[in-house]
Amino acid sequence: MERWSGKTAVVTGASSGIGAAISVKLADAGLRVVGLARSSHLVDQLHAKVKGVGSITSLKCDISKPEDITSTFQSIEQKFDGIHVLVNNAGVIYPAHITDIGDSPMSNDEVISTLDVNVKGMILCTRHAVASMKKQNFNGHIININSVAGHYIPFLPNTNVYSASKHAVTAFTKALINELAQFGSSIKVTSISPGLVRTKMAQRDGVEIDLPMLEPSDIADTVHYVLSTPPTVNITELTVQRVSEKRI
Ligand code: NAP
Repeated sequence: MERWSGKTAVVTGASSGIGAAISVKLADAGLRVVGLARSSHLVDQLHAKVKGVGSITSLKCDISKPEDITSTFQSIEQKFDGIHVLVNNAGVIYPAHITDIGDSPMSNDEVISTLDVNVKGMILCTRHAVASMKKQNFNGHIININSVAGHYIPFLPNTNVYSASKHAVTAFTKALINELAQFGSSIKVTSISPGLVRTKMAQRDGVEIDLPMLEPSDIADTVHYVLSTPPTVNITELTVQRVSEKRI
């Protein structure tokens, strides 16, 4: 991990759950973390948890809004001299049906928000981060927090548009790996696909789903692991599940 010390990592969705755990883990490892979220005041509270030599700075950013992403990444470029790691972590799920054939259909806004945050925001943030790495001639690392729902469709009610969005994360990760290889780039791209993780997303109506779950720190450890591989090694996909979690 020494080569990342003092480098800048942008973590989207840093205000909660997995993104908060990743931000603290990377700051402990010596990185300067820029945590993006709409609730940036929650990111500010994370800095007190850092035990290592790195730091966490918050920037308010709604990644469903392209103009917000552009101005935020411009500001990072100016204040931090470029981006070395991007963790595309922000995500939303609206537990409802795709159509009104079921009894709880998603609104149009919820459908659009799922695609805007989970897919569009991820792609636009990645374009800014790769541009920054190219400008610096630095071989950085893009890490996409995907899901097991990016690889199969869970037979659970209400994860439908979410699964479609996470399959797009799988496709985008592979397409980006191909494009970077086509141009001889050594920037790494990794998809990390967790099973259930104990966060707000794994609650329904404020009640935790009664299934085996990982902790957010398990995914932060996974991010730390993929970053610690040698520059010549790229882990393209890593699925992480709690022991005894079933494929549903
Ligand atoms: P979470 O606790 O609900 O956190 C979601 C994060 O996304 C929050 O920090 C939230 O910040 C941010 N976010 C949502 N909309 C945003 C927007 N428009 N602009 C900027 N940030 C936005 O959920 P989590 O479980 O940690 O989820 C993190 C990632 O892990 C997601 O990509 C999710 O799909 C994935 N994942 C989760 C599980 C699980 O079981 N928990 C399993 C597999 C994969 P603000 O609200 O402050 O903006």
